[in-house]
Amino acid sequence: MKVLKFGGTSVGSPENMRAVMKIITDGEQKIVVLSAMSGTTNALVEISGFLRKKNRDTAGMLINKLQSGYKEVVNNLFKTEENKKKGQKIVKTSFNTIKSFTSGKFTQAGENTILAQGELISTQLFTLLMVEEGYDCKLLPALDFMRIDEDKMADSQYIRNHAERIINEVGKATYYITQGYICQNATGEIDNLQRGGSDYTASLIGAAIDAEEIQIWTDIDGFHNNDPRFVENTQKIEQLSFYEAAELAYFGAKILHPQTVFPARVQDIPVRLKNTMNPTDSGTLITSESSGAGIKAVAAKDGITAIKIRSDRMLMAYGFLKNVFKIFEEFKTPIDMISTSEVAVSLTIDNTENLKKIVGELDKYGTVEIDRNMTIICIVGDIIGEERGFASKVFSALDGIPIRMISYGGSRYNISVLVPNSHKKNTLQALSKNLLSNGD
Ligand code: ASP
Ligand code: MG
Repeated sequence: MKVLKFGGTSVGSPENMRAVMKIITDGEQKIVVLSAMSGTTNALVEISGFLRKKNRDTAGMLINKLQSGYKEVVNNLFKTEENKKKGQKIVKTSFNTIKSFTSGKFTQAGENTILAQGELISTQLFTLLMVEEGYDCKLLPALDFMRIDEDKMADSQYIRNHAERIINEVGKATYYITQGYICQNATGEIDNLQRGGSDYTASLIGAAIDAEEIQIWTDIDGFHNNDPRFVENTQKIEQLSFYEAAELAYFGAKILHPQTVFPARVQDIPVRLKNTMNPTDSGTLITSESSGAGIKAVAAKDGITAIKIRSDRMLMAYGFLKNVFKIFEEFKTPIDMISTSEVAVSLTIDNTENLKKIVGELDKYGTVEIDRNMTIICIVGDIIGEERGFASKVFSALDGIPIRMISYGGSRYNISVLVPNSHKKNTLQALSKNLLSNGD
């Protein structure tokens, strides 16, 4: 069985939902994971923000606005009066749930319940549409089998044990529809896999049921070899290895949730990125197979802060890095790049929520310098393959660009350089011109 995931834009209007229906109804049994209709999760995040600040009037206004949008969707989506009524009831039930949190204490559990409504609505409406059109289609409730543990990590074993049980309980169908993003947590409350997590849902389900292929459908043909917003004539990448795709998904190229690749890799299930607007295109295929030596793509990740800690105490000492890393661990802040010299260490973070406190602690170990508005440029491929000279090609391409940090050799699939954000565009262009064949 295949697992297909469609993103918010793909189900963003009645027309788009019909296009998805056309794509999936080829008679083959499959599980279809859907996101919330585009804009919905953002709106729900905003509503929750106002409720947290006790600004109930604004929250109420936004809730009503979102609800009227859905009423219109229902009117345009279904043919029969009976289904229009059923659709309106689905919408009403979810919005009553949302409104139940506009009085009383607003908790994290309340917020998570609100955030879940987007996927709950989109999947129920879509299932009803499929049934109205005569397809053999059933809804799989993700909250009954998708789960995260105490550390908020996906509980693969639980998902594996329960996915099949739920499928059997729901009964045989050609098309199963389920919610992306939402899950229950270790205490059994509603939770989620973080923003953009529907891709990850698809891959976790794919791994749980030993799917034949996991397809992620969005509105672009697949991974491109550079960022089309900054570089002309970028080209779609036909094939990537799991490792290359993981690097690309994490550093830039916001096409795929970075965690998606891992469950698929463990079970060796191919992942294919496909375009809903251009369904006949082969997309990008991600497998365990090497895509050959060489540089495949360049991507950029903005909003990076570099931190340098300089200390004479580091000289010939051991345990210094451990103390530094412990501080980041304590403040739950992941580190992306690191580079060291004998008396200094530089590292980068993208989550600056606890930066002040981190710097306060780091100050005990040396002099701390901060550079904001930096961009990681990530060069992906099988770089330390048979051929030599990739590094020198990269560095000559970067001639004239003020590089703040370089990371090479951490993985054979990536060379990362840190540049000021103001140099992002010319860096991407220079790398494209010198390293990638863009058909010109
Ligand atoms: N609806 C969620 C979001 O917008 C999950 C997803 O679309 O993947 O983040
Ligand atoms: Mg997405």
